[in-house]
Amino acid sequence: MRKKASFSPIVIAAVALAAFSAGTLASRRLPTISAAAAPAAQAAKPPAADGKLRIIFFGAHPDDAEYRGAGVAVKWAAAGHHVKFVSTTNGDIGHWGQAGGPLAMRRTKEVQEVARKMGVTVEVLDIHDGEIMPTLENRRTITRLIREWNADVVITNRPNDYHPDHRYTSILVQDSAFMVTVPFFTPDVKPLSRNPVFLYSPDRFQRPNPFRADVAVAIDEVMDKTLDALLEMESQIHEGGAGGHEGIYPASEPGRSQRREQVRKNLAARYAGQANTYRAALTEFYGEQRAKQVRYAQAFEVCEYGRQPGKEELRKLFPF
Ligand SMILES: [Zn+2]
Repeated sequence: MRKKASFSPIVIAAVALAAFSAGTLASRRLPTISAAAAPAAQAAKPPAADGKLRIIFFGAHPDDAEYRGAGVAVKWAAAGHHVKFVSTTNGDIGHWGQAGGPLAMRRTKEVQEVARKMGVTVEVLDIHDGEIMPTLENRRTITRLIREWNADVVITNRPNDYHPDHRYTSILVQDSAFMVTVPFFTPDVKPLSRNPVFLYSPDRFQRPNPFRADVAVAIDEVMDKTLDALLEMESQIHEGGAGGHEGIYPASEPGRSQRREQVRKNLAARYAGQANTYRAALTEFYGEQRAKQVRYAQAFEVCEYGRQPGKEELRKLFPF
């Protein structure tokens, strides 16, 4: 049973001041939240050059990269490829009844648990939720993260989005798409010798142009494992995040299990929707017979910046 957290403005101010001081003192890169109680599945260090793929997902909040990587990240990880989720903000206003440091820590623990269940690595940058800007300092941070992961594939949302943090996270990733290869930009981390492939995950926005599925992959066989992992994000999924309300996740067990059942169904429907919407891309990838049977899918669009893969290379990047 979770008690509703109460916090005073003084506590929030102290947390904010501490975060500000830490950010000011960190000369090389922004601090990362560590919640020691729930370690990530892998150490947050670059994987060995073992011939496996290296994929890094960027989301603005501690849940965005998780939804984006759902299924496909589980498949990559199961095949021994190296996957990392990054949240560019700490999520500290993403709830209707809690805020500040305690919420940032809670959400960090949630995504660490998701990562453990999916077999991937996760990092949460200590930037306030609702406040990320496309600054030079942040461009350096994103560039370093992509280089340190020695990424073959970088995935984020498209830049036209309702949430400013989503927009600027996408812009920051775009801003890094060339700079990761430039030797004297942020020369403290070795530049990549090969530009990664940058991909976007789907959204509903139509202007200036709708999402285009360049590749779509089936995630049916990992759907249960994926949903089990995503449901760890209690503050967002069960309690509704910033858009939730008192009583949305009842105190009594029958009510709670009903809510858990419902959110699991809603999540599954999201990936079933992608299978139906992007059936043509599935057909291209699997052929008509197999594509028809796919129930759940993830689709991606190739960003015009970064390396431009042909169909053959896309198959190698999604070796499923
Ligand atoms: Zn978000």
